Amino acid sequence: MTVPNKPSRAAWLQGPSARCETVPNGQFLPWRIVLLGAPGVGKGTQADLLNQRLLACHLSTGDVFRAAATQGEGEQTPAMKEALGYMRRGELVPDATVWDMVRERGECLHCAGGFILDGFPRTLTQAVSLKQFLDQDGLGLTAVVNYELPASEIVARLGGRRTCEKCKAVYHITERPSKVEGHCDRCDGVLFQREDDKPESIKVRLEAYDRSTAPLIEFYRKAGLLLQVSAAGTPAEIYDRTVADLEMRRLSQFAERMWAAAENRRSGL
Ligand code: AMP
Repeated sequence: MTVPNKPSRAAWLQGPSARCETVPNGQFLPWRIVLLGAPGVGKGTQADLLNQRLLACHLSTGDVFRAAATQGEGEQTPAMKEALGYMRRGELVPDATVWDMVRERGECLHCAGGFILDGFPRTLTQAVSLKQFLDQDGLGLTAVVNYELPASEIVARLGGRRTCEKCKAVYHITERPSKVEGHCDRCDGVLFQREDDKPESIKVRLEAYDRSTAPLIEFYRKAGLLLQVSAAGTPAEIYDRTVADLEMRRLSQFAERMWAAAENRRSGL
């Protein structure tokens, strides 16, 4: 399994005035996916891998906040400064701030290449905002993948996670070490431990997940979009399970559309 160079995601990471290096051609039924799961289940790694197969961009709200954190204080808006304070403490950023930021990047949700949302939505309010936004333009989600893993394993994964400061590739000190310690295999960037992967923040983040994000599972189950996928095993194993489930979902969506089109033709006769 090889990972190609990721799209630059400039419009997502820097905001709508930035231009992506490449914009994908329109594809038949672009994938529009939401990844759910507690922090540490490996959503970022899977989004990276899925990007290779599905061509849809990996859109992480956490990456937007981390990109803003590397800007000079003078370049950060007051709302972003406040948001970064929540992030450092491991707390959720308020819904209104997150939604303003995502809505500003609405073009990314309209991208002809589709999208893989990672870390958004995280509350029911955010999920409803996203649904209303997509519904306005008839952009239905393909599926919502919920990754499941026991809490003890999540804590071990988060504590050992290291992220590349340049390309954001994710490693683990024991499970998925880089070839050269402290440096990214892909771009040689320096690997760092995210502030919110430190023990005091991990506890707060898992509590925030249980309180705010777990109800989303029910929301998407009722909408008929939920795919439950076990996040146990290696990234490659989890990826294979995810792709198999997504392909099945796509096949049944395609069959439903063909059926509906045939019905329309029949009733039009
Ligand atoms: P992540 O990389 O997705 O774990 O996000 C890192 C941090 O960014 C979270 O712990 C939150 O503080 C903040 N964050 C990212 N996405 C959201 C969101 N959708 N809603 C609220 N806070 C968020």
